[in-house]
Parts: sequence; structure tokens; C-alpha cells
Amino acid sequence: MVRDIYMVIGGSGFLGRHIVEMLVARGDSVCVFDIVQRYHDVPFYSGDLTDQNSVEEALRKSGTTCIIHTASPPHGLQPPIYWKVNVEGTETIIAAAVANKVGKLVYTSSAGVVYDGNDLVNIDERLDYPEQPFDAYNETKAKAEEIVLKANGEGGLLTVALRPSGIFGPGDRQAMHGFTQVLKNKQTHWQIGDNTNLFDWTYVGNVARAHLLAADKLSNPDPDVHVKVAQRPLPSIEL
Ligand code: NAD
Repeated sequence: MVRDIYMVIGGSGFLGRHIVEMLVARGDSVCVFDIVQRYHDVPFYSGDLTDQNSVEEALRKSGTTCIIHTASPPHGLQPPIYWKVNVEGTETIIAAAVANKVGKLVYTSSAGVVYDGNDLVNIDERLDYPEQPFDAYNETKAKAEEIVLKANGEGGLLTVALRPSGIFGPGDRQAMHGFTQVLKNKQTHWQIGDNTNLFDWTYVGNVARAHLLAADKLSNPDPDVHVKVAQRPLPSIEL
């Protein structure tokens, strides 16, 4: 079996780093493309993913055959940065991948792509994107996801998108930081909802593993996967 050469775009980030470590642990060849360098144990390509030349140069030098695209600006910024990085940047990555005959692209989407600010109960992948997206982050993650899925088959590129909900675990710089800031600022009297709201969280190692499995399955797909998704009954949740 010919093994892939992986490039993790956003590999200096929380999830990206776990994916890199998992690939290294199973003996795969992996490099990182990012605007910041935090680790020095795998080949690193410094660049902005919106710059096609930088992405193409890194793909050529590394001989990448599978891109895992985890990069996104963090929450809380102005809309133009999300449109630039998440939408235009993802289009740039696809163009660079096709031009360099990369075989696979795994995209980290978000469960937020179907969130419009209202509770979501008993939903799964069949739910459509909302007419009114919650914010620019979620809207551009949805657009990028659509672009990635539409690119499946383009120039031989196979694509898949995963939608994690909240991610927790070592290396997180957003969620836990936000929670502890709330405590430090003594904002403990704030309560959202009536204390019955649920929110999904997944351990970062499990999200990383899902990316590896998705990459592996792209070249060896299970023919029943779509049928299983379409026929699976909605789970019922007792609230
Ligand atoms: P993170 O901020 O820790 O990592 C993102 C990485 O992308 C950073 O290293 C950053 O430098 C890099 N990056 C950003 N803009 C770039 C650019 N223009 N060019 C090159 N690199 C760039 O984020 P994370 O929490 O690891 O999230 C990873 C992915 O998972 C994101 O796509 C995010 O939308 C998605 N996601 C995260 C969560 C969560 O709870 N953390 C939940 C759902 C989905």
C-alpha cells in the first residue's frame, strides 16, 4: 500500500497539532503549513493559506498527497477576515491542490454551520444550512464546507468535511481560557437559559482520530456510508 504524505494546514493550532502528533505516532510522513510556528519536530512551511503561491510551493517541496485543512481565524473577529481566510482561502487551497495533483483534502468544518441562534435538538447531517446564519464565522465555515464538498472529483481530488462541535483537551487556547476569564472577572451571576441547555463537546484526540479515519476512507470508501447516513433514524433525546 502506498502511504500518503500529509500536510496539516493550521498544524500549529490546537486541533492541528493533535492531528500532527497522531500521524507521527503511527509512522506517517507529515508537514505543517501555518502562519505561526509553535513546534519544530516536523517540516514547517510558513505561509498564509490565502496566498496560492505559498501553498503551491509547500505542496511541491513536501510532495504532499493528502491535505488536512484545519485552519481558521478564531471567534470574535470582524467578518472580512472570515470571508478572506475561510472562503477565499479554502478556494485557494483547492486550486493549489488540483494544480499539484494532490489526491485528498480533509476539511475541518464546524457543527456551527447549521446554527442560527436557536436550539437544535435531535438534528443530524440532513439539516439544511440556516437562512439566517448566526454570524460570519459560522456562515463562512458553511460556505467553505460547501466549496470543499463540491470540489470532490475535481482533477482527481477526493474531499470530505467533518463538523466537530465544541472541542476540549490539552492545548486548547480558546474555550477554557474563556471559561476561566468569566470566573476571574467574577461574572458568575450570568446564566444562559434555565440550566437545562445541553451542548456537545468532543475530546480533541477523538476529533483528530476522526480526521485520520476520514483521510484513510477517502481512498478506500465504504460504499454503504451514504446509504447508512440517509437511512439512519434520528436519535431521540430525553430532555
Ligand atoms: P486554532 O486557532 O488553535 O488553530 C488554527 C490554526 O490555523 C492556527 O495555528 C493559526 O495560526 C492557523 N491559521 C489561521 N489563519 C491562517 C492563515 N491565513 N494561513 C495559515 N494558517 C492560518 O483553532 P482550533 O481550535 O484548533 O480549530 C481548528 C479548526 O476546527 C478550525 O477550522 C475551527 O473552525 C474548527 N472547529 C474548532 C472547534 C473548537 O471548539 N476549537 C469547534 C468546531 C470546529
